[in-house]
Amino acid sequence: MSDPKLDAYWMPFTANRQFKKSPRLITGADGMYFTDDKGRQVLDSIAGLWCVNAGHNRPRIVQAIQNQAAELDFAPPFQMAHPKAFELATRLAAIAPEGLNKVFFTNSGSESVETALKMAIAYHRVRGEGARTRLIGRERGYHGVNFGGISVGGMVANRKMFGSMLGGVDHIRHTHDPARNAFTVGQPAHGAEFAEDLERLIALHDASTIAAVIVEPVAGSTGVLIPPQGYLQRLREICDKHGILLIFDEVITGFGRTGQPFAAQTFGVTPDLMTVAKGLTNGSVPMGAVFAKQGIYDTFMNGPEHLIEFFHGYTYSAHPLACAAALGTLDTYAEDGLLTRATQMQAMFAEALHSLRGEPHVIDVRNIGLVGGIELAGLPGEPAKRAFNIFLDCWDKGVLIRTTGDTIAMSPPLIIEPQHIEHIIATVRAALRRAA
Ligand code: PMP
Repeated sequence: MSDPKLDAYWMPFTANRQFKKSPRLITGADGMYFTDDKGRQVLDSIAGLWCVNAGHNRPRIVQAIQNQAAELDFAPPFQMAHPKAFELATRLAAIAPEGLNKVFFTNSGSESVETALKMAIAYHRVRGEGARTRLIGRERGYHGVNFGGISVGGMVANRKMFGSMLGGVDHIRHTHDPARNAFTVGQPAHGAEFAEDLERLIALHDASTIAAVIVEPVAGSTGVLIPPQGYLQRLREICDKHGILLIFDEVITGFGRTGQPFAAQTFGVTPDLMTVAKGLTNGSVPMGAVFAKQGIYDTFMNGPEHLIEFFHGYTYSAHPLACAAALGTLDTYAEDGLLTRATQMQAMFAEALHSLRGEPHVIDVRNIGLVGGIELAGLPGEPAKRAFNIFLDCWDKGVLIRTTGDTIAMSPPLIIEPQHIEHIIATVRAALRRAA
């Protein structure tokens, strides 16, 4: 019998029936740990959901939100703004990849993706190439759950229930190549040539119909796929050759995850548009953003004079509480050196992850910065079940992991210390052995 108090809430991304029979309720958090409703401390190996890069409940962020709530609760985003929105955009532009110095605010990763896709199409129209409306995503890509995002995305579970997708979308192939790259530490040596698949689609559709290509620099939700060496560079070259915008979806890689503020900097490839969310406010208040190159912004500003240049936005764009939280977050990242801390921790993290090679059912380990993927052989006929059982076991033992398909995806808070890494890996190792 499930608890009637749990009935009304239709939970997202959750097996509601299973959950309500044995709920996992989180009631508090501090630093690297959650507290559950039984008072247990649960070590967080996934920064909430790739969000809480500075660890939980950081005082500066808490204080910033509290102060802001008492000072200005809401400011309409229509033909007006509040000062912290400008301050935040300026601070973000200062740490952004070269030239991405214009910032448009949203409330989530999904909204950032929709915004970037619309910006790309509108940009070409304003500059007189209105036939460039086609969008190219990538197989196994994840770009949130709205219709644009699931259309350019390439994960079947996100698409199959929802009828026809956005028209005029195509996909390049994914970069997963276990036959050549299994158990690679860092960027795989093989697979840069997969970028040439973009030339195939250009030959099929013609560049004059294509607005943008969107990829995650490191694909997260599909099970952590690290870009092969040279792959992102090649995508950049092909886009440049054909006048196509390149969009990086950095919703999970933004804010220090790969060792630089953004993965674009880690890999040395600058996109034209970049989406972020999650770590922007350390997960504390919903917020996302799209970074755009100066030239894209200028194109809109030099376009026909309208009351509004880009007719898009959200009631809660640049919400005062979110701006205050983001400013507190940037202060915390700066004070603790967190945006580059993954460079110090990644060797140890990689060694610990790869020590799972040889454990039962482990068929691949992938990593970069403070992101890791441990892929398990699926149970025959029951995809994702084996990994999910490991998740349940680890939760029982006081460690929160995340699984997607048959991969355990790890993305700990960037404040992680060696003893946390040891504890997480030991718990996963024991769970794998029990499952054998
Ligand atoms: N893009 C990427 C790459 C993501 O990983 C996610 C969320 N995991 C999203 C977009 C969607 O973000 P949100 O859930 O905030 O809408």
